[in-house]
Amino acid sequence: MISPFALDLSAGLGATAGLGLAAGGFAYASLWPASRLFGPALIAPPHPGELALTFDDGPNPLWTPRLLDLLARRDVRATFFLVGSYAQSHPSLVQQIAAAGHCIGNHSWSHRNLALAPSSTIEDQLSRASQILAEITGEPPRFFRPPYGARRPATLRIARRLGLTPVLWNAMTSDWKNPSADAIALRLTHKIDSLYRQGLAANIVLHDGGLSADRAPSIAAAAQLIARYQPTHQFVTLNAWA
Ligand SMILES: [Zn+2]
Repeated sequence: MISPFALDLSAGLGATAGLGLAAGGFAYASLWPASRLFGPALIAPPHPGELALTFDDGPNPLWTPRLLDLLARRDVRATFFLVGSYAQSHPSLVQQIAAAGHCIGNHSWSHRNLALAPSSTIEDQLSRASQILAEITGEPPRFFRPPYGARRPATLRIARRLGLTPVLWNAMTSDWKNPSADAIALRLTHKIDSLYRQGLAANIVLHDGGLSADRAPSIAAAAQLIARYQPTHQFVTLNAWA
């Protein structure tokens, strides 16, 4: 079986990836999702037609409940990369996410850039987040997505030592810059269709959290993607891939 870990740069990133590597050096390698320089991370397996909706930066008391309503209405399970300190502030939201059958991942304690942080900080950020999520849900998280995708070898090594599988993505749009729902959905649709033609599943990043951000367009975009792909594709959580 082909490993789902860090499939090659064809994962929706195109030919510019190699150029960026030559020009960007450390910054490129530490931030670019498909860079393998810093060790393998789960992106997406060769299962065309499978879609993993992943939502980062929650839980958020305003947006997460709306997202949970949408997913429940459409009978879709997703993956939530939660920030530990937010989880501590909103434990009942975390319980609701878990009770609905969604997969919960670790997105660090306070959303720090972990590419440049000392190892002790990385360990603290990851272990505190895992601990609070395990306390709230009764189960330690299996997956870790580095904030901003920023990492270095130690980041991934520490994650694995803590029992966490590092996860990146292959379908993202700048939904944090507040484009319209239509713009987000259109851009992701192009990526999903391109990945499908390449024989790959799509690991899609959207955001339901973040302080004072308007996540209505991201949630509306998720609704559009579900409406479009539910008849022909299968929505899965990361548990299906690792
Ligand atoms: Zn994030």
